[in-house]
Amino acid sequence: MPGEPQADCLFCKIVTGDVPATIVRETDTTVAFRDINPQAPTHVLVIPKAHYPDAATLAVQAPQLCADILREAGEVAAQEKVDGTGYRVVFNTGSGAGQTVWHAHAHVLGGRGFNWPPG
Ligand code: 5GP
Repeated sequence: MPGEPQADCLFCKIVTGDVPATIVRETDTTVAFRDINPQAPTHVLVIPKAHYPDAATLAVQAPQLCADILREAGEVAAQEKVDGTGYRVVFNTGSGAGQTVWHAHAHVLGGRGFNWPPG
């Protein structure tokens, strides 16, 4: 069933608390926690509690959850006080783009300058 927890999924285990994480925000449908290997002074991952393998699948199968993730990304930025200067929201989608965890997640990055095009 789409959205069902996966026993071998790291982020599903963070949702259940079986893997510890520094949680900064939580809603009925989402969890936001600090990335273990931060790439900016603020680097928070926002995930749906339900399991979808990537952002594109999430958008098709659970569009309201997609909206929840984007709203929470903005809330994280405000809570971390990086919304004034600007922040970046990234969905690595597919291994060629750098996706390593197959549970949809938004990276919220802020607190430093960013280049364009990205690396
Ligand atoms: P991706 O490479 O799939 O776009 O992003 C996965 C992110 O998960 C990476 O930035 C990586 O540092 C982070 N990550 C991997 N394992 C853990 C973990 O056990 N805890 C936390 N908090 N982040 C993790």
